Amino acid sequence: MTATIDMREEQKAPEAATPDTTPIRFASPHKPADASVPTSLEPTEQLLQELAAKSRELESASPQEVLRWTVERFAPYFTMATAFGPEGMAIIHMLAEIAPDTPIFNLETGYQFKETLELRERVKDRYGIEVEYKLPELTVEQYETLHGGPLYKTKPDQCCADRKIKLLHDAVVGKHAWASAIRRDQSPDRAKASIVGWDKKFGLVKVSPLANWTKQDVWKLITDHDIPYNPLHDQGYTSVGCWPCTRAVLFGEDDRAGRWGGFQKTECGLHSLDD
Ligand code: SF4
Repeated sequence: MTATIDMREEQKAPEAATPDTTPIRFASPHKPADASVPTSLEPTEQLLQELAAKSRELESASPQEVLRWTVERFAPYFTMATAFGPEGMAIIHMLAEIAPDTPIFNLETGYQFKETLELRERVKDRYGIEVEYKLPELTVEQYETLHGGPLYKTKPDQCCADRKIKLLHDAVVGKHAWASAIRRDQSPDRAKASIVGWDKKFGLVKVSPLANWTKQDVWKLITDHDIPYNPLHDQGYTSVGCWPCTRAVLFGEDDRAGRWGGFQKTECGLHSLDD
């Protein structure tokens, strides 16, 4: 008797892989869970090669795929910094689904808009995620007294260094990777961002899941999912930082034209290229 081969079975197309949407949970997100794990990563040749290869591989991946890989590779030593911009809100929304235990922090310079601070509360209400404030050593009052007035008027680089950069350095101690929400089309400096790379300035891996996204992509996600956003964006503030260094932009101006008006400065130093 001859065996019958069912050709329909033979020719059946392989089933498409279903993306894994299970949230990744991990213990003790705010401190290393394993004392044997080094508190900092060393940029060895092997690690740099791994990051370069992974960055190339993830060029065509979705931001969610980039985040999922990052969490699987680095959590619980993975963190995210946010200033609650539209891109940051998009990543928070994704992390709430992928890895809600990821520690997220905000550099609370003391000069943020009240709308920005209120957005932190809206994030807590919507996602149950408590974004941690990282605070400078000195209050605004103490800082301005020490320097005889606000430094943002005369030395914004120093003000950013004292009230942002130092805080980020401190915030990533013990972490192996951090996520930023930059897009390559935001500025010439940001155009060179890799999806995954070694951040020389802060000494850990930097992941930019939205590097390939456009402003339209970000706002489509926000409107499709009713993601909370800073109401100042509806008043012409395309990029929101500290209130003394931010203004609404005029029609036709670059999105970041409203930052540090009157100075050559275009970045606070968190995302500028490594020296
Ligand atoms: Fe200071 Fe302005 Fe920098 Fe904020 S953005 S830290 S106020 S210089």
